[in-house]
Amino acid sequence: MLSAVGPPVTVRVPAKINLHLAVGDLRPDGYHDLVTVFQALNLFDEISVVSTHTGRGPVDRIGPGAPGIELLGDVTDAQRADVPLDASNLAWKAAVALAEVAGREPDVRIGLRKSIPVAGGMAGGSADAAGTLLALAALWRLDLGREALMEVAAGVGSDVAFALHGGTALGTGRGENLVPVLSRHTFHWVVALQDHGLSTPAVFGELDRLRATSAADTPVKRVGSVEPVLEAVASGEARSLALLLGNDLQAAAVSMDPGLRRTLRAGVTAGALAGVVSGSGPTCVFLCADGPSAVRVAAELSGAGVCRTVRVAHGPVPGAKVIDGDPARPPRGPGGPPAPDPGPNMYA
Ligand code: ATP
Repeated sequence: MLSAVGPPVTVRVPAKINLHLAVGDLRPDGYHDLVTVFQALNLFDEISVVSTHTGRGPVDRIGPGAPGIELLGDVTDAQRADVPLDASNLAWKAAVALAEVAGREPDVRIGLRKSIPVAGGMAGGSADAAGTLLALAALWRLDLGREALMEVAAGVGSDVAFALHGGTALGTGRGENLVPVLSRHTFHWVVALQDHGLSTPAVFGELDRLRATSAADTPVKRVGSVEPVLEAVASGEARSLALLLGNDLQAAAVSMDPGLRRTLRAGVTAGALAGVVSGSGPTCVFLCADGPSAVRVAAELSGAGVCRTVRVAHGPVPGAKVIDGDPARPPRGPGGPPAPDPGPNMYA
């Protein structure tokens, strides 16, 4: 057990969905070029960091020393089984990367309170990495601008920069080159979570396999161009956006997990405007006409037996945000900043 020194800094980070995800062909270096439109939803992980620095000499970067990671709150069996607590955790990688930039030891303990599904296609690991970067920048009082932090983020993982950024953004490259997308309107979503995950590399591999084996006259369908999606986001018209939601990974996710076809159908039958697999799945998201409609769709979907649990959410929401313990700000409470948004409604 690591000893803590000083109060923790806590950051809240949103999950992402992809309104549009175009996947290029496999490149010789093993990657795929992506064109994607991310949107951040009010489904959050909370990351707390606390210093373990005792001033008694250097700390081991990958041993049992620092950084240490633990899961906080009601930890599910899936989280316990699937979230690594070692150097392969993206939050740990983020701590080591930022410590290197800051020229100091990553002598911290990181607590993860996870609500974003693990291996769910909502970039939970990337969110934890983004939260760790922001929390440590505050804890260590680093004089780093947002741009510099975004650069560290892009080096840690492809979705990390977006988790810092939030809102709606166009992502290219591996998703790390971001351009903000004008979106003043709120969209209402129902999120269908599964009781299992899908491995992102395996889903990309399945897409490559499907493309390589499909007949020339029936190629695997690809999403259209991104411009109409950006226009629909800017217009705020859910019905226009619903017609344009698209994900090249969906065919591969459904091929690996055929039950997702039922989930997608059930959401639309329940009254959603459209549904799409989020990222590499298996989480499915359903766009609804408005907030009350999303509540009705969620209630019906939760009784349909096609997913583990259903949440009502909205987006876009801002990216990673310090919610407690910022050494540069007054503490929360009477006279202090307001308590955080409690997050989406949950239907068990
Ligand atoms: P992607 O960003 O590829 O869409 P995802 O949302 O499908 O990812 P994550 O929850 O980010 O999935 O986790 C994918 C895998 O990464 C997990 O199965 C786990 O082994 C590993 N992982 C590393 N760090 C974390 C973390 N902080 N939280 C959850 N998983 C993590």
